Amino acid sequence: MQTQLCSLALAFCLFVSMGVSAARTPFELAGTVTTEGTQNSFLADVPGTDVQIPITVFHGTQEGPVLTLSAGTHGDEFPAITAVQRLREDIDPQALKGTLILVHGANIPALHQRGLSPLHPEDGKNLNREFPGSLEGTATERLAHFLTEEIVGRTDYLADLHSGSANQWLWPHIYAPFVGDPELDARTLAWAKTAGMRHVVLYGDRPRDPTNSISYPNTAMTRGKPGLTLEIGDRGLNDEDDVRAYLDALHRLILALDMLPGQLPPSEGHVVYERLIEVETPEMGLFERRCEIGELVEQGALLGLVRDYFGDTIAELRAPTRGVVLMLRHAPPVNQGATLVTLGVE
Ligand SMILES: [Zn+2]
Repeated sequence: MQTQLCSLALAFCLFVSMGVSAARTPFELAGTVTTEGTQNSFLADVPGTDVQIPITVFHGTQEGPVLTLSAGTHGDEFPAITAVQRLREDIDPQALKGTLILVHGANIPALHQRGLSPLHPEDGKNLNREFPGSLEGTATERLAHFLTEEIVGRTDYLADLHSGSANQWLWPHIYAPFVGDPELDARTLAWAKTAGMRHVVLYGDRPRDPTNSISYPNTAMTRGKPGLTLEIGDRGLNDEDDVRAYLDALHRLILALDMLPGQLPPSEGHVVYERLIEVETPEMGLFERRCEIGELVEQGALLGLVRDYFGDTIAELRAPTRGVVLMLRHAPPVNQGATLVTLGVE
């Protein structure tokens, strides 16, 4: 009797363990299939163009969310591209829950312009303003369409990884958008706060219509999926400190979704900004900054001057309200109406 019970128990255990280890459905992305416990790096064709997007997929051995970490939306922002390359070396798909998609360069045509422009060279458009895109549209619109369908469409969580452009100083910050869906908005903000980044910007000025979603993360949000923007690094540089800060933030975002073993380090001391104020120049000329990146400025403080070509001051830029300088123009030449300083307001 005891022997019979033992063999019954053994059979039950075997049955259960077989159930747990049942094969996961292979993950297909842009025609490339990745089986459980493996990884795949490939070039995905963007329909209607001759552009190929470099992607790595890790398909874990256990069920879990699909997370996309996407670098290179703009052509002159590099630290995230290097961080994502290093992350590719770190991830063991055998230890992964769910599926991790790494987009190594979302806008390859914009990248190959000597690091001088964030924009697509063919149509001069900003990819992060052309979502959800169109298969019949311009080069940038077709790229946006591909990212909407193949990346956002296949993912549960998106992080779009930016830096300051070549002509921009930038204080590291993370955007948590909100779209008026309390559950989604709260989940997105909570996830943003896990990244270990002190400065968190709430962002709600994008349309809530999925057919006019404008930006990459808002395309995720308007489809019910958390979509963050990270901003680390600036001036078109690829500094080691910024790459390491990026890698740390990406590890934390993965750990926060319980996709890898390990303890999520605490993130404390957040400063949450409810809005951004853009300070524009009323005149064309040469900009001279009078504030520092990351500085807390009081209402009325002098932020910078615009001089004419002879050196005479033609405009004074002052802080319309108290705030922290999150972005600041680096290169002196400025056109009328250009944003020279962006303040985060608590
Ligand atoms: Zn950018």
